[in-house]
Amino acid sequence: MKFTSTRNDKIEVTGCEAVVKGLSEEGGLFVPAFFPVITSEDMARLSDMDYAERASFIIAKYLDDLPDLNKYTQKAYERFDGDPTPVTVLGEGLAILELWHGPTHAFKDVALTLLPYLLTGSKKVVGKSERTLILVATSGDTGKAALEGFKDVEGTDVIVFYPSDGVSNLQKLQMMTQSGDNVCVCAVTGNFDDAQSAVKKVFTDEQVKERLKSKNFALSSANSINFGRLVPQVAYYFSAYLDLLNGGEIKEGEKINFVVPTGNFGNILAGYYAMKMGLPVNKLICASNDNNVLTEFIQTGRYDTHRSFHKTSSPSMDILISSNLERLLFELSGRDCELTAKRMESLAKTGAYEIEGDELSLLQKHFYAEWADEEEVSDEIGELFDETGYIMDTHTAVALNVYDKYIADTDDETFTVVLSTASPYKFVSAVLDAIGEKVPKSDADALALLEEVTALDLPRSLSELPTLKKRFTSVIDKDEIKDFVLDYIAKQ
Ligand SMILES: *Cc1c(COP(=O)(O)O)cnc(C)c1O
Repeated sequence: MKFTSTRNDKIEVTGCEAVVKGLSEEGGLFVPAFFPVITSEDMARLSDMDYAERASFIIAKYLDDLPDLNKYTQKAYERFDGDPTPVTVLGEGLAILELWHGPTHAFKDVALTLLPYLLTGSKKVVGKSERTLILVATSGDTGKAALEGFKDVEGTDVIVFYPSDGVSNLQKLQMMTQSGDNVCVCAVTGNFDDAQSAVKKVFTDEQVKERLKSKNFALSSANSINFGRLVPQVAYYFSAYLDLLNGGEIKEGEKINFVVPTGNFGNILAGYYAMKMGLPVNKLICASNDNNVLTEFIQTGRYDTHRSFHKTSSPSMDILISSNLERLLFELSGRDCELTAKRMESLAKTGAYEIEGDELSLLQKHFYAEWADEEEVSDEIGELFDETGYIMDTHTAVALNVYDKYIADTDDETFTVVLSTASPYKFVSAVLDAIGEKVPKSDADALALLEEVTALDLPRSLSELPTLKKRFTSVIDKDEIKDFVLDYIAKQ
């Protein structure tokens, strides 16, 4: 499979090259030349496979130049606690797909336990011997998942930047206490968009490029702008469908909906890719929190970042610039790279762009969007817990609330899967508060209380966090990110 760029379709690279490079040199994102189709015979074969085998089968359709994929997915998904992506039926026509049973308890693990293997394997294929420096801007969960995935992986280093006040206490603790000799973490004042924009700039900075070269380093990304980070996520859409089919919840070929709590648009884009590959999807329902820029875009066609940034109880979705939307725009425009480039330029310069006509109709044909405010999120957690005993995190609650709104709006009876993206323990204060418990001051007490009042086991990797040494405590301004990276390189 060849890959091209959303901003220049003259560019042609292999899957392995796309993974190694991360971002195309003119700033565009790598996209596959076409969408490989999963046939009904393929579905029948996938049906009997375990998750690692299914993932390997789907990913191989894109990264067909990478050997040993099956071995890699086995190794990555061994790190999960039981079934990596279990589907739980919640009620009539409704199921939850839990994606947080990996080492850091957020859905980012599905991709980031595997990405180190994809990257190391791709480097071999491409014939690169240089070290890879992975730069990550995180809204909370990507950072930790990248650190866990890449720690002590030979030939790689990771630097993670997170917004100092934009992540939960537990998320911060997870990153500050990270082990490993090739990792580094730094807080940045400002919000996630500030950090992400500053990190993106480093990627195209000439001085950084030169210094890296002199030390035999190359930059790469673990954000969902990297195709190697995106493609493992396509697999669980197929896997969830097959599980529901095997469980007799749906019939072969029956279309279903997916509700996705959305930030950078990576997760829901993977659902769109699954649909393009032939998965029977009715609607992809895009759920946002108070930062509802995507709701407005999908409802009106206008993407406008001129709005206040809200800090919410679902911080991994506190994003105004959703990078992966670029890949969708490319498809909606009929793969027009010039138009896509123009829109991205407009976004960078004016903070807005607009689509209309056929493109907007196509968008609305496949996507539905709504958002939930803080009170609705909290109520949603409390109500579901009271009614069923099922405890969910704040991000998942955004999705479930939006699903309620979708039903009220459309009366659609299509079977629906809500993607659950984080363990409730990662957002323990908000979750305790939502179920009417007084939130203890210390993190350790809060975690213990949530375990006491729910049926969900507290993972050891979270319960031990408050006792670990904080290794990384620096806080810098976003303008200092480049120098921070240069310093890191100089020390290697
Ligand atoms: C990253 C994240 C999201 C948003 O996913 P995107 O792919 O960025 O849209 C939602 N929930 C949680 C818990 C996350 O960590």
